[in-house]
Amino acid sequence: MASTEYTESATRGDALLEVEDLQTAFFTDKEVIRAVDGISFDIERGETVGIVGESGSGKSVTARSIMGLVESPGRILDGSSIRFDGEELTDKSEKEYRKLRGSDIAMVFQDPLTSLNPVYTVGNQIKEALRLHQGLRGSEATDEAINLLEAVGIPDAGRRVKEYPHQFSGGMRQRAVIAMALACDPELLICDEPTTALDVTIQAQILELLQELQEDRDLAIMFITHDMGVIAEIADRVNVMYAGEIVETAPVVELFENPRHPYTRGLLKSIPGNNPGKERLSTIEGDVPTPNEPATYCRFAPRCPEAFDECEKVHPVPVDVNDQTDDHTAACLLYPEDVSKEQAVETHREAANESEERI
Ligand code: ADP
Ligand code: MG
Repeated sequence: MASTEYTESATRGDALLEVEDLQTAFFTDKEVIRAVDGISFDIERGETVGIVGESGSGKSVTARSIMGLVESPGRILDGSSIRFDGEELTDKSEKEYRKLRGSDIAMVFQDPLTSLNPVYTVGNQIKEALRLHQGLRGSEATDEAINLLEAVGIPDAGRRVKEYPHQFSGGMRQRAVIAMALACDPELLICDEPTTALDVTIQAQILELLQELQEDRDLAIMFITHDMGVIAEIADRVNVMYAGEIVETAPVVELFENPRHPYTRGLLKSIPGNNPGKERLSTIEGDVPTPNEPATYCRFAPRCPEAFDECEKVHPVPVDVNDQTDDHTAACLLYPEDVSKEQAVETHREAANESEERI
C-alpha cells in the first residue's frame, strides 16, 4: 500500500506533529473508501503547513484523524502513526484524546456555527473553554474572554462578550471561534477551510489575524484549503493532496515557482489572474475519484495531460525533484528527471513493491 518511506529524511523526530503512513478508511456496506491512503508529513513548532487539494481529496479526514474524531464506519488502520510532541496519538483512549483536544490541539471548522451554541452568549462559551482548559472562573474568566475577543480583533469586546452568536456577522463569528480555540492555549491549531464561507475582504482579515496570532503565540498551524491563492498567503510549506495521497510537497515559494506534479500545475492554472490573456479560468476536467481500491496505479492519470501507459500500472511514490534541496518531492512517474523514463518508472515500481512487502 501507499507509503512515503522511500524519501523519508533522517531529520524526523523533533517536529511538533509527525504523521507517518497515515491510513484512514471508511468500511461501508458497499466498499472500503481509502480516504487517507498512506500520507506522511511533519509540522514544526511555529510553522504553517498547508494542505491543498480539490474537494474529496481527504483533507478533512486527515484533520479529523489527527483530532481523534474519525466517525464510524471509518477508522485509522494499523501501521499508521501520528506523533504529537513525541507522543503516539493513534493508541490513545477517547478520554485521553478529549484532554488533548482541549489543551494542545484545537480546530477551527469552515462553518463557525458548528462550533458555537446558539443558546449561550459568545462570552459564556469562551469562559467555559477557559474554565475547562485553564481553570479560570468568575471575573478572571470574564476578563480573559474579553482579552481573547480583543486579541482576535473584535471591537467593543466588553459589550460583545455578552451577545449571542446570531448577533455576530459571519466574519465576527469566525473570529469568536478562533478566540474559543485560543482559550485552550493550543500548540497546534488545525484550520479546515476557515475562510471558505467568507467574502474575500473578510477572508484576508482572518488570514492576517491567524498570522499575527501565530507570531505572538508561536502557534503551529495546519491550514486546509482547496484554494491555491489562500495557500500562497498563509503557508510556509505545502502538501498537495489528491484522492487520499500527498502528490507533491515543497516550501511555498518553491511550489509556486517550480511546481512539478501535473496536478499541482493544474491547480495553479485555476487561480484567478494566473492566466494572462485568457478569459476563462482553466480548470482540470473531471472530478477527484473516490479512492475505493488500493492504489496500484496513479489516481490522477485519468485526468493527467501528461499520462502515459505505465501511469495506469505503476503506483508512483514521492521522489526528490530538486537537486539542491531534499524538501521538494513529487509522486509522479515523470520523476526523477535526470534518468531515462524507463529508469524512472522502474524506481517507482521497485519502491512500490518494497512498501507492499512491508505489510
Ligand atoms: P476533502 O476535505 O478534501 O474535501 P474529505 O476528507 O471530506 O475530503 O473526504 C475524503 C473522502 O472520504 C471522500 O471520498 C469522501 O466521500 C470520503 N468520506 C469522508 N467521510 C466519510 C464518511 N463518513 N463515510 C464514508 N466516506 C467518507
Ligand atoms: Mg473538507
